[in-house]
Amino acid sequence: MIESNKLYPLSVPLFVRGNLCHKSLWLHQHRPELSGQVDETLRARFDEGYRVGLFARELFLDGRCITEEADTVDRQLWLTKKLMNSSVMTLYEPAFKFDSVLIFPNILCRTETGWTLYDVKSHGMLHPGILKDVALQYFVLKGLNIQVDRICVVHINTDYVLGKSLDVLRLFTVVDVTDRVKMRLNQTRDTVQTMQRVLASSVVPKVAIGPHCSKPYECDFKPFCWQHLSDDSVFSISGLSKNQKFTLYEQGVREMQDMPASYPLSDEQVAQVRAHREGVPTVNLIGLRDFLGTLHYPLCFLDFEAFQSAIPLFSGTRPYEQIPFQFSLHIQSGPTAEPINYSFLASESEDPRRAFAESLIKLVPENGCIVTYDHHLESQAMRHLAVLFPDLSRALLKLVGQIRDLIIPFEKGYLYSPAMRGRYSIKTILPAFVPELSYENLVIKNGEMAALSFCKLRLSSDAKEKSDIRIALEKYCEMDTYAMVRLLDVLRVFSDRD
Ligand code: SF4
Repeated sequence: MIESNKLYPLSVPLFVRGNLCHKSLWLHQHRPELSGQVDETLRARFDEGYRVGLFARELFLDGRCITEEADTVDRQLWLTKKLMNSSVMTLYEPAFKFDSVLIFPNILCRTETGWTLYDVKSHGMLHPGILKDVALQYFVLKGLNIQVDRICVVHINTDYVLGKSLDVLRLFTVVDVTDRVKMRLNQTRDTVQTMQRVLASSVVPKVAIGPHCSKPYECDFKPFCWQHLSDDSVFSISGLSKNQKFTLYEQGVREMQDMPASYPLSDEQVAQVRAHREGVPTVNLIGLRDFLGTLHYPLCFLDFEAFQSAIPLFSGTRPYEQIPFQFSLHIQSGPTAEPINYSFLASESEDPRRAFAESLIKLVPENGCIVTYDHHLESQAMRHLAVLFPDLSRALLKLVGQIRDLIIPFEKGYLYSPAMRGRYSIKTILPAFVPELSYENLVIKNGEMAALSFCKLRLSSDAKEKSDIRIALEKYCEMDTYAMVRLLDVLRVFSDRD
């Protein structure tokens, strides 16, 4: 292995990446073109983190923000030094560099003898992983001989309920982690040196794929590292735990066709493996017909969209509470009737929940059979609204009782196609059975993007952008319920076969 003497710059995001996987760190530096697309939802989570950081500044008023006042790293380093030698009490995003590691702590407050470091997180609790990146910041400050008296993590207090106005003192929880971080100093120094060696190497580190590829988030190099696995790999077997799949993989069982006959599988898994071996769908006619027998007209295909926000937006709500803002409803009155689409998309300027609940009750027929795909969001949201609006409670709880879940025949293996690759989301199932319909051509392609788009709508002041987002949201949600209409047709076609 060839190592260069060059010191590669490390930052907190790179350090976090390197802590999860050395190969990811190396690829990011040397082969960034192998990375898949940056997940929009991940980017939005960073944006949310930044917004939370801005609110946290209100805990420590009258600070100077280095990254806003200086536009290059050199100037930010210079300004930080200058203000630390002045009477300024609080710095937001000051810049420090030591041993090739560059950091921008969220907040630094002067004490009588030194400084307190505050690291702001948009999480609802203190994860042990957070301490690693806080320890990197302490490593740099210590290396620069800056006296750090206290180190605190500031995170969201999920028990907080928004009153008439936002109370930042109650929105955040401040946890003193000084001792826990300071005791990691040597370990952090070793980790930095190891990462420098990884980066200086001309050879990609050997790291096997594992659960770390998807947790705590999907690695952007997964398309590269996992390319040797086909759609028929053991990772596509549904109902097996991650541990079971990786154990099989490490034992050399990579494809379903290599599964030992003695391996204990459920009836559904046996049917799934058979479908992959034979390359054709498998059908459980009894299960399928029983499920279809639970449905009746008028069929009401229903799908909700909801968003969550770290900073609660409406009086009476908590951080990260799900707020339903949109639904699509296709109603089919009889076997030969064309389904008719109805929809609700809230105004972005007010609390959407009352209008959402009233529209739902008005549009769903009293005797309707509500068909959802994975009912959890719909059931939970309706139950929540029933508590919030006692005068609508009876009607909403009645709707909950009318729900049938279209995921059941797929999840239980009554109909399985190898094209589903062991997945049951409507986005995977639709192209497996209705290839002419796809989410790919839509601007908004999944529920998380829909939620983020609605949040963007709230922040935008551009009329054209707002109009485009509303159109994209309508199209996406309508697709969800139309997809259910078509999938039910598919189930019927298979159930009619002998
Ligand atoms: S996909 Fe897995 S092994 Fe490959 S770089 Fe990412 S985390 Fe590492």
